[in-house]
Amino acid sequence: MKQESSTDKKQKSKSKHRIYKPRKKKSVEEDAAIKYLQSQYDTINADEIKTFKDFPLSQKTLKGLKDNNYIHPTDIQRQAIGYALQGKDILGAAQTGSGKTLAFLIPILENLFCKKWTRMDGVGALVISPTRELAYQIYATLRKIGGLHDFSAGLIIGGQNLKFERKRMDQINILICTPGRLLQHMDENPLFDCSHLQILVLDEADRCLDLGFETTMNAIIENLPPDRQTLLFSATQTKSVKDLARLSLKFPTYVAPHEQAATVTPQSLQQSYIVCEIEEKLAVLWSFIRNHLKQKVLVFMATCKQVKYTYDLFCKLRPGVSLLALYGTLHQERREQIYEEFCRKSNVVLFATDLASRGLDFPRVNWVLQYDCPEDVETYIHRAGRTARGVLGKGEGLLILLPQEEKIVDSLKQSKIPINKISVDPSKIMYPQKKIETLLSDNSELKQTAQRAFVNYLKSVYLMKNKEVFNVHTLDTDAYARSLGLIVPPVIKFINKHRKPIEVKNQLRDDAEETISKLKEKQDASESKDNESESDHDESSKLILEDLKKKKEKKEIPKFNFHAGGYDSDDDILKIKQKNINAMPTPVPETQVPSKASAKPLTNAALVKKILKKKIKVNTNVKFTEEGEAIDDEKKDVKSELARQSKKSGGGLDIEKTKELLREEDKFDVLRFREKVKAKHREEKRKLKNKKKEDEGEKDDFGSQSESDGPDLSWLPDPDKVYKKDEDGSKESSEHSNDVQSESSDEESENDVEDVRPPKRKLTNEKSKADDHVKPHKLKKLEDISAALSVQEAEAFAMQLLKRNKIIH
Ligand code: ADP
Ligand code: MG
Repeated sequence: MKQESSTDKKQKSKSKHRIYKPRKKKSVEEDAAIKYLQSQYDTINADEIKTFKDFPLSQKTLKGLKDNNYIHPTDIQRQAIGYALQGKDILGAAQTGSGKTLAFLIPILENLFCKKWTRMDGVGALVISPTRELAYQIYATLRKIGGLHDFSAGLIIGGQNLKFERKRMDQINILICTPGRLLQHMDENPLFDCSHLQILVLDEADRCLDLGFETTMNAIIENLPPDRQTLLFSATQTKSVKDLARLSLKFPTYVAPHEQAATVTPQSLQQSYIVCEIEEKLAVLWSFIRNHLKQKVLVFMATCKQVKYTYDLFCKLRPGVSLLALYGTLHQERREQIYEEFCRKSNVVLFATDLASRGLDFPRVNWVLQYDCPEDVETYIHRAGRTARGVLGKGEGLLILLPQEEKIVDSLKQSKIPINKISVDPSKIMYPQKKIETLLSDNSELKQTAQRAFVNYLKSVYLMKNKEVFNVHTLDTDAYARSLGLIVPPVIKFINKHRKPIEVKNQLRDDAEETISKLKEKQDASESKDNESESDHDESSKLILEDLKKKKEKKEIPKFNFHAGGYDSDDDILKIKQKNINAMPTPVPETQVPSKASAKPLTNAALVKKILKKKIKVNTNVKFTEEGEAIDDEKKDVKSELARQSKKSGGGLDIEKTKELLREEDKFDVLRFREKVKAKHREEKRKLKNKKKEDEGEKDDFGSQSESDGPDLSWLPDPDKVYKKDEDGSKESSEHSNDVQSESSDEESENDVEDVRPPKRKLTNEKSKADDHVKPHKLKKLEDISAALSVQEAEAFAMQLLKRNKIIH
């Protein structure tokens, strides 16, 4: 790119001032003010700064700050602004929500103001942000505090009208952008010129410089003039020498006001975590939302597909609060709408990917829920930092971990993150399992979204670097799928590679409704498993609960002993509060965890009465023939010994006994199902065989004998001798019967005996053709021979004739 020297630039700006005469007059006053301000830069002492007025800042900037209620600078602002005004490169590290944006926007305004930057001077400052939303937010803040300056500011992010951006590019002084779009302009737009760049800012610098943006950022940096000022800001700052070298930073000033603080996260951020099984997660989230209807909640998930599915599903389940979803694959317009809506609303839940984890300053977020374990400590800090922002901000963070992921807590604590383990009141967890399954059975699109969410989540776990924390092989994927409403878990190819063959077979059980052929393939491999999934369908929620119970008993996980730490919250779900039990929202038709406290024997009795009154036969399974007639399952009578005994001893409502009985009965059900599957297979095989026979019968006029059990033809006379093989005719025939020849040629070359066997296919047509061409003088002879033969012999002989016929023809 074209680069101009600084003297060229000055001459250029002088010539511009000659064009705008009124500006020149005004500039005399400005010059004096600028000179004064600049002379004060070296005297700035961060410890003496109480208000923004204590900084040598232009009147326009001061007024902009005051108008927006920015009076007292935050720690990072106090310490960084002075160095930045002095023209130093800065590595700024400060907690989330501590005001880093102003710490770089104020120096940008002042820098360009002191250089009397005009629209004609092109891009003087460049701010790079890793996400569009953050770029937009920085741009909005800049417009608020810099509105009185004469500079033009531009927002260049993906998903916008490129042509529109292109035309205005040469008039922008302060450019806020995302790396990809910036590089696109650098590469494609002749109007884009940043050769006069004065100041470069990377917000969320460590993210901008990490692997995901490496090549893009390298290309951008190559295009920037090296004699610029560079400011890097983040809550988790990079100190990597390699990164600093890439940016030509040799001796940057490190500004980290919270380095000596007891915690890396804001003091006002209350942090806790819970450990639960994978199949509980969705229910925990649902219950959390149902218990926080009057709050602003941000939920982080690992993948776009999960966000989409949870959003779609929960919208259908109607939790009683506004839901929003923000993820990268959304259309840009929609992203903007959602961002603004979440900023505006107070009682709302936003499901988001890590797209929203960096820098976004959503006002008044009460809760940040990390539904999926963060990739690393940095991700945790940034996600959690979406709440408890600003000077007075307060908030709470909840991290949901699987047992294996609990190891990350050590790293969090080592990084000075105060986080306590808490537990959930099991009686408050609502399992919307049945509703989800019903929704999915009615809505194939939703089911597909669920399948994608399932696969993508596992993929994301599989791709995580930290294998100690993330181990896809320890996950109960079947139970997880079930919890998402998927009765049959989707195939997970990338895991199959590493799994035992039996597990792979089980996984091959794809959704039975999707294709019958797929089901057939898998039936052999998963007879016993199929049985399980059948019963899942009916009693899925119960199964999840029973599984969980077993797992917890086995692993001896602390059983939701509320708030192990000294956590003080008004939270219902996260803490037992007797007085609040009745204040729970009226349970929607979800299955609640059966707890002694919530058991209502009276209601059950009423229910039984009602059923008896209506003479409904409960737990009966009537099957119908294809014609619609009810059929009795003759094997239904096969019952366990226990069942027979209980039948003799009469009814009664002993729950434990009933459970035992059901378990016994289940065993018989399994056997019965297996038998059924086998019988079905047998029936299918029989049908297939019959069909094959029919097909062959159709094609083959000689009956349905297969090649293997065909007649022994070794006794047949040599046809060549019988018909005095005509050599020329043979050659000719090979030319005329390409079809037949091409199919049988291989066999012929391999085995001479095969030569005389009836070819398996295309026989009917050939035969009829052959009949047409048999010459009359030979027919008599043939009749004589055939009369002496049995049916089978005649068949074989006819075949022989067919071949001959080609020769004759
Ligand atoms: P960071 O970039 O460090 O995460 P932001 O720059 O986004 O933090 O600022 C967080 C919040 O604090 C914003 O809402 C911002 O308006 C507010 N804020 C920043 N500086 C000040 C200040 N000096 N006085 C009052 N509020 C401030
Ligand atoms: Mg920020």
